[in-house]
Amino acid sequence: MATELYHLIGGKKVTGTSGRFADAFEPMTGTLRSKVPLASVEEVATAVENAKAAQRAWAVQNPQKRARVMMRFLDLVQQEYDELALLLALEHGKTIVDAKGDIQRGLEVIEFCCGIPHLQKGEFTDSAGPGIDIYSMRQPLGVVAGITPFNFPAMIPMWKFGPAIACGNAFILKPSERAPSVPVRLAELMLEAGLPEGILNVVHGDKVAVDAILDHRDIKAVGFVGSTPIAEYVYTRGTAAGKRVQCFGGAKNHALIMPDADLDQATDALIGAGFGAAGERCMAISVVVPVGKTTAEALMDRLVPRVEALKIGPSTDLGADFGPLVTAEHLAKVKSYVDLGVSEGANLRVDGRGFKMQGYENGYYMGGCLFDHVTPQMRIYKEEIFGPVLSVVRADTYEEALALPNDHEYGNGVAIFTRDGGAARDFAARVDVGMIGVNVPIPVPLAYYTFGGWKRSGFGDLNQHGPDAVRFYTKTKTVTSRWPTGIKDGASFVIPTMS
Ligand code: NAD
Repeated sequence: MATELYHLIGGKKVTGTSGRFADAFEPMTGTLRSKVPLASVEEVATAVENAKAAQRAWAVQNPQKRARVMMRFLDLVQQEYDELALLLALEHGKTIVDAKGDIQRGLEVIEFCCGIPHLQKGEFTDSAGPGIDIYSMRQPLGVVAGITPFNFPAMIPMWKFGPAIACGNAFILKPSERAPSVPVRLAELMLEAGLPEGILNVVHGDKVAVDAILDHRDIKAVGFVGSTPIAEYVYTRGTAAGKRVQCFGGAKNHALIMPDADLDQATDALIGAGFGAAGERCMAISVVVPVGKTTAEALMDRLVPRVEALKIGPSTDLGADFGPLVTAEHLAKVKSYVDLGVSEGANLRVDGRGFKMQGYENGYYMGGCLFDHVTPQMRIYKEEIFGPVLSVVRADTYEEALALPNDHEYGNGVAIFTRDGGAARDFAARVDVGMIGVNVPIPVPLAYYTFGGWKRSGFGDLNQHGPDAVRFYTKTKTVTSRWPTGIKDGASFVIPTMS
């Protein structure tokens, strides 16, 4: 029996009134878990009213008190870690072990936010002129919103609401309708941690709710993470409505394998980064570029048996390498990309399309797939597949290999495997991508750095988490002050300068 979920508005559980619902399934069994209410324009407006009413009092709380809510939240999530990881795995499909990582990477940003008294400090210049001091302050924007994808139901909501709320904003979260429960539970734990009602609201929804957020005049900023077409749409519509908007989109992350690389280390890295979470990560490695024929042959000899040996299991199997994909539709889409690769002439060395999970025949499983001799002209190279499919594109030289990520429309993450410091340095300097790994396959920056892709992987000019998050969720005000000192310098009609 499917459970009907609720919105969280003004600190209260609110039953959906639009009469529209999305179905959320359990990927490991293929059963319907919940009916997700899809918010109407009016329901979004109610959430914004609640947020607006609560925001000012929250913003003038001293930053230490805001930080303490974050600290208590960290404790509460720790106490519920296992239950949250299980819920996340059941709704999303990733393994419980991986679900714990999803929660942990979110908590690390909350830990960063505990430093908000320091992070939000302005600047001060004493005696910038005769009797003149200048100071700046970072003030919250007001009500802001986050629209998040299915693939990190804990991490990305925390990346969004953590810094926004720590800075003194009120927040409207519109999580993915495909994995909706963990974001709501996290918001409830924020309330239990002492967050005033109305500061964090969760509205479920689809395009109707997203458009209502983008058009609402009282929402001052929107942070989005999801696929590139929707990222671009949200950016265009949100900025046209005068909002500050940052949107992070899809990816095609390359790993260059240089002839001097430690191939065993590189193979381990590629297997984990290519197939972890069934490839449903924006930082998954999906393209491998061995440089030179010898490297390519030696790498394929290692990769083929490892892909064949991948252990696929239900999300609750602690020994599984990865679990099912998120929905039946997504599974069909990924398999159709494998069909396409075959028809485009790529060499499918490992075919996971026929994999069946015994005892879980209705779940959304497939095995790992490995293509060799993929070319840049093929659609399986150009487009994001977002599944357990690794493509090998062979290059004769380093320059030819470097040109691949540089010419690709996406620019999220990239890695190079080499023992040559000079090559790694040259690569980091010249590659046209936002996040670079040197012998590190998933170079997701830690919470105190910023995360963001280039080209069509990111729209807007500030990144997520780290110092950029504080910049994104605040506006800077600069005060130039002079107190009467008795000095009379008369009226001046020229622009003041430092001369
Ligand atoms: P998605 O674009 O389908 O959905 C993202 C959000 O947009 C959801 O909240 C969804 O409800 C909403 N949405 C969907 N269709 C919409 C429409 N027509 N109009 C308005 N809103 C709409 O993405 P997804 O499938 O949930 O997530 C996977 C994608 O996210 C992949 O492309 C992946 O690369 C990307 N991703 C990027 C990053 C990053 O930081 N760059 C991180 C994680 C995921």
